[in-house]
Amino acid sequence: MIRSVLGDIAPADLGVCDAHDHLFLRSPRLPGQELDSPVAATEELKAFRRVGGRSVVQWTPHGMGRRAGLLPELSRATGVRLVAATGLHQSVHYSQQLLDRLHADDLAALFVRELTEGIGESGVRAGLIKVAGGFHGLDAHARWTMTAAAEAHHATGAPIAVHLELGTGALDVLDLLCGDCDVPPHRVVLGHLNRSPDLTGHLQAAESGAYLALDGPSRSHHATDWRMPDAMRSLADAGFGDRLLLGGDTTTAGAQSVHGGPGMPHLLRRVRPRLGLAVGEELVEQILTVNPGRAFGVDWDRDLGSPHPVLH
Ligand SMILES: [Zn+2]
Repeated sequence: MIRSVLGDIAPADLGVCDAHDHLFLRSPRLPGQELDSPVAATEELKAFRRVGGRSVVQWTPHGMGRRAGLLPELSRATGVRLVAATGLHQSVHYSQQLLDRLHADDLAALFVRELTEGIGESGVRAGLIKVAGGFHGLDAHARWTMTAAAEAHHATGAPIAVHLELGTGALDVLDLLCGDCDVPPHRVVLGHLNRSPDLTGHLQAAESGAYLALDGPSRSHHATDWRMPDAMRSLADAGFGDRLLLGGDTTTAGAQSVHGGPGMPHLLRRVRPRLGLAVGEELVEQILTVNPGRAFGVDWDRDLGSPHPVLH
């Protein structure tokens, strides 16, 4: 089942899914560009639905302005299913005060609580754990958050979605999560891989069995966006079509379609037919519908409380 903000749903009910995006996001690194308007989020989801979109997986983690309490009403009002995230981004996205507080606490227990009981007082449960690597490496913060994410995965079965900085460091992430921490590779979703367009590196990551979430266009990654269809074709040709996901990754207000940017609708209006030319429409449909159901589907009841050893 997929843990949506309105409750658990069958993977087949996801429909056409934007597998990596943001409705709300706040970071000291993006001053003045916060995604924090419920009106804009509503309009963005309506625009996405008008072009055939049915679900959005929101990768905004703990402490970055998720507005979890608003998500159920947004989902009801727009008819778009939403999945929320727990987890933690890179340290640069947080105040030292918040990091100190989290260090004094049990981070894995916080993730588990947000997955099984709810985010804060909202009652809205997260359906995935989002963490982040660094540029060609993992600092102490990344290792701390990924180890906690692995522990929360073992307690719940939740998938772990990873921000790869500029698309780099995938093998280091896999070594830590799947090697040291014993997370099954098919429970890991690697994001932004196409932003480092080394097609051989993509194949190495895919061979692990992890899911690969490629991104739609964005202004800050314009230099590599045009290579994404070819990256997808090379992965499909190598037999990894069932491991591919696609997301818009809208991270700033200016990138939303309601403010004149490409936003969520662009993924279906323009990226979908363009990818069809690269890998065929049938595979694009699978990437938008079937694959997200597999990547984010969890047997929550069976996995809850599994006797896997706790990692400390
Ligand atoms: Zn993102």
